[in-house]
Parts: sequence; structure tokens; C-alpha cells
Amino acid sequence: MPSIYDVIVIGAGPAGSTAATELAQAGLKVLLIDKAKLPRNKVCGGGLVLKAFDLLPEEAQNVVERFCTTVDLHFASSGLTFSVTRPYPIITMVERKKLDSALIEHACSKGVHFTDKTSCISIKEADNKSKHVKLLTSFGEIKAHFVVASDGALGKIGRLLNLPEERILIHALETRIEISKVNEALENARFDFDACPSGYGWVFPKKDHFSVGILSHIKGLGLKQYLIQYLKKLKFSLDSVNHAKGALIPVSPRRKFAYWNRILFAGDALGWVDPIVAEGISGAIISGKLASKAIIKGCLDPEKVQKSYIKGIQKHLFSNFSFSSFLANVVYHHPVFRDLCFKLYGQEISEVLTDIISGKKSYKWLLWWPFNYLQALYLFPGRISRILIN
Ligand SMILES: Cc1cc2nc3c(=O)[nH]c(=O)nc-3n(C[C@H](O)[C@H](O)[C@H](O)COP(=O)(O)OP(=O)(O)OC[C@H]3O[C@@H](n4cnc5c(N)ncnc54)[C@H](O)[C@@H]3O)c2cc1C
Repeated sequence: MPSIYDVIVIGAGPAGSTAATELAQAGLKVLLIDKAKLPRNKVCGGGLVLKAFDLLPEEAQNVVERFCTTVDLHFASSGLTFSVTRPYPIITMVERKKLDSALIEHACSKGVHFTDKTSCISIKEADNKSKHVKLLTSFGEIKAHFVVASDGALGKIGRLLNLPEERILIHALETRIEISKVNEALENARFDFDACPSGYGWVFPKKDHFSVGILSHIKGLGLKQYLIQYLKKLKFSLDSVNHAKGALIPVSPRRKFAYWNRILFAGDALGWVDPIVAEGISGAIISGKLASKAIIKGCLDPEKVQKSYIKGIQKHLFSNFSFSSFLANVVYHHPVFRDLCFKLYGQEISEVLTDIISGKKSYKWLLWWPFNYLQALYLFPGRISRILIN
């Protein structure tokens, strides 16, 4: 393995593989490392929203397990259920092991040098003398002009650099259940917003199994008991509970330290995940693309790279964040108000939310389009009287 690269990418999830591919395509000498032995699994629902699926290279689109064109939303506390159907797959189901391997293979086909079982143990920032970032890995020391830190939600690059933890990380628990004759009719992606306090449960059907899980915005909740309740409610076997795996999801990003001295944070290490549905694969791919674009456009000049990256993530990721996190706060911390809104406009909200997560509309559109308010006001009296009569 050569010891100097233009860019070293730490972590071969969707963010890292995407960044590495685009950098190599631009002719840069790129090393992609991952501490895990590949193929590795990643605790994840494996649900790709349309905007994530559309960003994948063709090779990676071949790993699809199932297309879900209908999504069901359940609210047990108010007894409400909404269904949204689209002519396109709202969520495309994949297995992360296969998706991530396909993305790495694609990166290698574009000239990326990839090595697994290689952990970044320590990192030394560039100084005026060296102009290189130095990494100590399990295979020795390597250097690069730039580093893309895409080492996931639990990655330690930020900590090794002593950067303050700006991200808010929430807990999730996921397990898999074999599809059998008893449950094979469950074909839609399903979300249950009262499966646990301040969170939701999901059922994502794959080829031969379901990904079933639960997440909550409350720290230290003890998710296992809620997963058991959820499985019971769905009449699934409880055997899978012992195989459930926990993981963290960042629902608020690194804002001040997205870039630090030739190091660009991407994916969960940057921390951009949709705060309402906790979808992070599109943000991982987009931030990977933006990091590579900044390095290429900035011609390896740190000041230009920093400026371009910060501008890119502001425009393409963070600009919607304040409003989406406000809505997440309503959904997860004000259930009474949430249920009233869903009683009044549940189908409309579900439709709009679907368009937003698919990438057809943005949170900003919801906020700034006056017709939304006029429509709400127009529908309000009729809906209120119907609720009162019932
Ligand atoms: C339970 C759960 C369910 C989810 N469901 C969905 C879903 O259905 N849809 C969706 O869009 N998002 C989902 N997410 C979020 C999604 O999984 C993440 O946003 C996405 O995986 C982020 O990709 P990434 O490339 O940033 O990081 P990761 O995919 O986590 O990859 C990081 C990589 O870095 C490597 N690494 C870490 N440290 C080092 C080191 N020191 N040296 C070398 N390598 C290192 C790791 O081995 C890993 O391979 C879910 C998350 C969880 C926890």
C-alpha cells in the first residue's frame, strides 16, 4: 500500500464509497479504508427513499429486495391509520450488507484503492510544515492532502480531534423476522407512531424477512420492552428479540465543525439524518458527493475546499433543517397536538410527508407555499364539525 494519497476516506458506508468513487473518477489517488471485514452488516432498516435510490449507481440498484409503493402510517393513541400509494416506489428495500458491498465494488471499478479490516487508530492534523493529514492505521502510517471522515454515527475521528460533539444521537433497536405463511400478506412499509414514547416502530418487508425495529428520541428509555410489545401487537414471534441489535442515529448535525483542517465530515459522522423519519442514506450519499466536489473544485486548496463544502452542505442539507427539526419536535414531543393535526388533516399530511421524503417537495415548500395555509383554513370548519359529530 503506498503511504501518500490525495485523499483518504475513512469508513466505507454509502457516504465514504460515494465520496471515494467521485474523487477517483476525477483522477485523484484515493484510499478507502474500513475497520470491518467486508461484507459487513450495518444495523439499519435498509429502506431507501426515492431520492436515495435515484442517487445510486446502476450496479448498486441491482440489489433491490422489494419495491414498496404503499406506506401505512398507524397512530394507536387516536386509532387512526393512513395509507399513501404512489406510482413509484416510496421506499425501496435493500439489505445493507449487499448495498454497501455493491457501492464498494463500484468504487474499486473507478480506481479507488480499498482495504478492509483497517482501522484508523489516531489522526494527526496537517500543520504549515507538512500540509498532510497523517493517519495511524492498523496497517501503519499513511498520509493524505485531505481526509473524508465518513466513519458513521459512532466513529471516533471527531473525538480523536477533540472536536465538541454537536450531534444529537438517538437510540434504535432492530431485528429481523423470517417471512412465513402467517405474515406473508404484509407487503407495505409500515410505521407505528405510538409503538414507543417519542418515536416509532417500523416493519420493512424484504425478500425473505422483515426488518422490524423501534426508535425513540428519549434517552435511556429501555427500547427492548417496547420492541417486545410491538412484536406482540403485530403477532410476530418473540424469538427474534434476543437477536435485536442497537445502534445510534444522529438527528442533529455537526454545524460548526463539519470541516476541520483538511478533514471533511460526511454521512452519519456529519450527522445529517431526516429528523422526522430518521432516513440517513440520502444524506450520506449527498454529503459524500458534496465532500468530493469541494475537494475537486477547490483544487486541493484547503481554504477553497472548506468554503465550497460549507456552502454545499448549507444549501443542499442544512437549509431545511430548522423547520424539519421543529416538525419532529411536534411529532415526537407534543403527541396531543400531533394527533389533533392528524385527525384534521391526516391524509394530507401523510401525502405531503411522502412527497418530502421522496424528494419531490421540500420542507421549505411546506413552510413558504401560502396555498398550504389557505387549504388548511378552508378545510378546517368541515373537519372540526365532523370530528365533533363523531
Ligand atoms: C436501526 C437503524 C435503522 C435505520 N434505518 C434506515 C433506513 O431504513 N433508511 C435510511 O435511509 N437510513 C436508515 N438509518 C440511518 C442509516 O443507517 C445511516 O444514516 C447510514 O448508514 C449512514 O451512512 P454512513 O456512510 O455515514 O455510515 P455507515 O454506513 O455507518 O458506515 C460507516 C463505516 O465506517 C467504518 N468505520 C468506523 N470507524 C472506523 C475507523 N476508525 N476506521 C475505519 N473504518 C471505520 C464502519 O465499519 C462502517 O463501515 C438507520 C439507522 C439505524 C441505526
